[in-house]
Amino acid sequence: MGTYIENRETRDSAYAVRQNFFKDIEKYLLGFEQKAAENRLDVMWANNEEQLVSAIESLFKSKYNKVCFDMPEIPEALANHHAVKQIKPQKVENQESIPDIVITNADFAVAETGEIVLLDKKTQNCFNFVRNLIIVLDIGKIVARRTDLDLMLYILSDSKHGAPIHKDVKFIRQPFSHIETAEFFSSTENSYTRDEVKITVILYDNGVSEILRNENLREALYCIDCGLCAKCCPVFAVTGKYTPIELVKAGISEQNSDIIFKNTTLCGNCNSVCPVAIPFNELLTKEMTVSKEGAANQHLCKHLLKRNKMNALNNRFRRFFFLKRIFNKNKKLFNYFFSLKEDFFNIQQKEQ
Ligand code: SF4
Ligand code: SF4
Repeated sequence: MGTYIENRETRDSAYAVRQNFFKDIEKYLLGFEQKAAENRLDVMWANNEEQLVSAIESLFKSKYNKVCFDMPEIPEALANHHAVKQIKPQKVENQESIPDIVITNADFAVAETGEIVLLDKKTQNCFNFVRNLIIVLDIGKIVARRTDLDLMLYILSDSKHGAPIHKDVKFIRQPFSHIETAEFFSSTENSYTRDEVKITVILYDNGVSEILRNENLREALYCIDCGLCAKCCPVFAVTGKYTPIELVKAGISEQNSDIIFKNTTLCGNCNSVCPVAIPFNELLTKEMTVSKEGAANQHLCKHLLKRNKMNALNNRFRRFFFLKRIFNKNKKLFNYFFSLKEDFFNIQQKEQ
């Protein structure tokens, strides 16, 4: 998903759009809520997963609900909920079954218009046939203006070929007409009912407030989930544990500061590809510097910061001892980096 945006101006504009939103996040959230209410969408708020689950539970209409979760992660309490019978998104897409409720996540929303934007949802052809559509909107996914959204969709497109990456971009502004389920399975278009699909938007904090309080790491929130940093990270390719943006966020908690040291080589790849210009190098080194792990990590930090020196580590023995010190608890990474024949600490520099 997503391609490398070479134009620095575009990346800087995207950065400015995200910065502008987070600077005045409260104003835009309230603006979104007001617009959505004017558009007859119901709005609820949830700070954490527990509140999200309660909010969704409160929307169940019976003891037994056929629910389709069209989202990357289903909260555990809902996946195993006694009142839920899950229907797979593929079944809905193939028109084999129609759920009572679809729960999906928004990819963007616009404060100025109160619109929700969904990208490539499997279930979107059945939205008219369900009684309840619940949209979970991470508060960090909102942009201030419609023009900001256009820029975000542009940077998620194939910038080289000018083609959209997403096949389906669905805008939801107002509730749409509800059509009886029987129509879904037939080819006739008769007998439309007049009532509406109830659409509830749950504004979900999902840790955004915690990161916002941390001045040093606020820029990590600018992420728009394009997936590019994960694709270019040599450590993630081996461990599959933390994508670069997950790594930055994981390091926020002091107990986790060690994670940063074990999962980056500071190669700078993520810094180069991020289309919203999140300054990864700066964020990662800041986290390393403020680490409270003591002398050992300070020592390691000094080494990691001297990237040029690391690139000169072509001597096999020196490289062995250096890697041993960094990855002594992670055999997989140690073997990977030790087996590489070429300079590996700064791939970007090598390409230049
Ligand atoms: S700097 Fe390199 S190794 Fe570190 S997180 Fe970014 S891409 Fe991965
Ligand atoms: S942080 Fe990673 S996933 Fe997020 S926008 Fe930047 S490159 Fe894409």
